[in-house]
Amino acid sequence: MSERLDLPLAEGLLRLRITSATDVGTVRRVNEDSVLVHAPTVAVADGMGGHAFGDRASAAAVDTLRRALPSGRPAPPEQVVAAVAEANRAVRAITADRPGAVAGTTLTGLSFVETGAGEYRWLAFNVGDSRLYRAAAGGIEQVSVDHSVVQELLDAGAIRPADAAGHPDRNIVTRALGGADRVDADVWLLPIARRQRFLLCSDGVTRELADERIARILDAPDAARALVRAAVRNGGGDNVTAIVVDSEIIGWNGLDLEATADRSSRLLEDTLPRT
Ligand code: MG
Repeated sequence: MSERLDLPLAEGLLRLRITSATDVGTVRRVNEDSVLVHAPTVAVADGMGGHAFGDRASAAAVDTLRRALPSGRPAPPEQVVAAVAEANRAVRAITADRPGAVAGTTLTGLSFVETGAGEYRWLAFNVGDSRLYRAAAGGIEQVSVDHSVVQELLDAGAIRPADAAGHPDRNIVTRALGGADRVDADVWLLPIARRQRFLLCSDGVTRELADERIARILDAPDAARALVRAAVRNGGGDNVTAIVVDSEIIGWNGLDLEATADRSSRLLEDTLPRT
């Protein structure tokens, strides 16, 4: 899927090109990943739980965001954070009358938000182990931090990065939507720049493809589809989903990107998930 949107800003416009792809993979019978392309908000959700609860959970999460957030214009950051909390309630509701049943989902998203009059940022949010990357000079950098057993072992220095991909507990997430009445989402405000590229993906991509390979494929013309195809070809042991966002700010000649980055990095300190 491909979507283009020109979003009017206080001055000039934001041009977005968003492509997405998803595949059930070669092992699973059901695709429990869900995709939201509701520009300027995008999200990936990777559902978990038996008896079709996984796909219902991820669908409930992205449907809630779609209903709660505007399309074609930026929302204030608070509205996006509130929508994530509402998505958690929607996932909880799936099993409200089924004691003992589990419906959960990861949720990783990115939204172009208006933080003040004529001031804009990217707001990134994450619960679980789907990921947000941004293209950087010479490769990609991971913005989100996995809520996973493997990430905790890495943080504690108990395993090396090289051991993470093959670790027997690599599927275990430590936070998910649906897990508790209040969701503890990580939220980041990121600076805007003249041209930016982001990737959101489920772990079906990152368990099959190393970051260097992802970075190379991200330069392909139809990168979302190329990433999903490569991950399926590499094994496809899980559902595979990718969203690629290309943004460009046009006709805002007075835009002071350095000042934007500076203010944003200070805001970032307030919103960092880990201390
Ligand atoms: Mg998965």
